[in-house]
Amino acid sequence: MKRLISILICFIMIAVLVSCRVTNTSDTGKKSIVCTTFPQYDWTMNILGDKADEWNISILLDGGTDLHNFQPSAEDIITINTSDLLIYVGGGSDGWVEDVFKTNSADAELINLMQTLGDGVLERDRDYDEHVWLSLENAEEFCEVISYRLGIIDPDNAAEYNRNCDAYTEKLEALEERYEAVVDTAKHKTLVFADRYPFAYLCRDLGLTAHTAFSGCSADTEASFERMVELAAEIDGAGVSAVVVIDSSDRKLAQTVISNTKTKNLSTVELNSMQSVIAEDADYLSIMEKNLDALKIALN
Ligand SMILES: [Zn+2]
Repeated sequence: MKRLISILICFIMIAVLVSCRVTNTSDTGKKSIVCTTFPQYDWTMNILGDKADEWNISILLDGGTDLHNFQPSAEDIITINTSDLLIYVGGGSDGWVEDVFKTNSADAELINLMQTLGDGVLERDRDYDEHVWLSLENAEEFCEVISYRLGIIDPDNAAEYNRNCDAYTEKLEALEERYEAVVDTAKHKTLVFADRYPFAYLCRDLGLTAHTAFSGCSADTEASFERMVELAAEIDGAGVSAVVVIDSSDRKLAQTVISNTKTKNLSTVELNSMQSVIAEDADYLSIMEKNLDALKIALN
């Protein structure tokens, strides 16, 4: 009798676990998409358009968590594991998600943004530069891939995703043209970053020369005073009138650089690298428009 009861308890526990797993994977039968960072989440929402309600879409790095300091919770691991589509950057900061992604769904898909760029990925500090979303050209490529994959998972709405993607791509292209117009009429084509440097893709697209306090985005090392003096000399040489910092900068390096220039009278502009945003308040195109306004000041 005892043995029968324990078998029964075991059976009930397994049944409960299985039902938990089912509700987890398909809450109300919707397919789920997990995006590691904000840009791909925003692109996906734009491509889904009116159909967004028919999916469960989540973003792992929300609420201002910095990309480079992200530590997944147990809940994050479950979210990744039970998704039908996982869209991630694929660099040092979120490349680990593919190891966690062991979903049971046979249709499950992975989109590694860096991989889709192939040779278009920039090398930096003997590593690949993962800040691929800061190029409007790259964004167009990513949207096309996302739209195509959504159409495979949900063929009934593939045409709509394609149309939405085309409309969004037009906006990306229009903004890109505005960037090019600003660069074409700029007084100079030099940017001085008294900061980390996640904007290599944008500078490549626009043919801009960047002098930077750090070679990449890592701030593990201290920038030397010597480097600050070198940046000040670049500013004097190129006639730059504004120093660039990135979001969340304390601007101390910028002040040091400015105090070493001849005029000591430069403004500071901020470019948003979207490495720690709150998705609810953000919009990729609006952020890139604001970045254009900052660029306009920095190049004139
Ligand atoms: Zn970074």
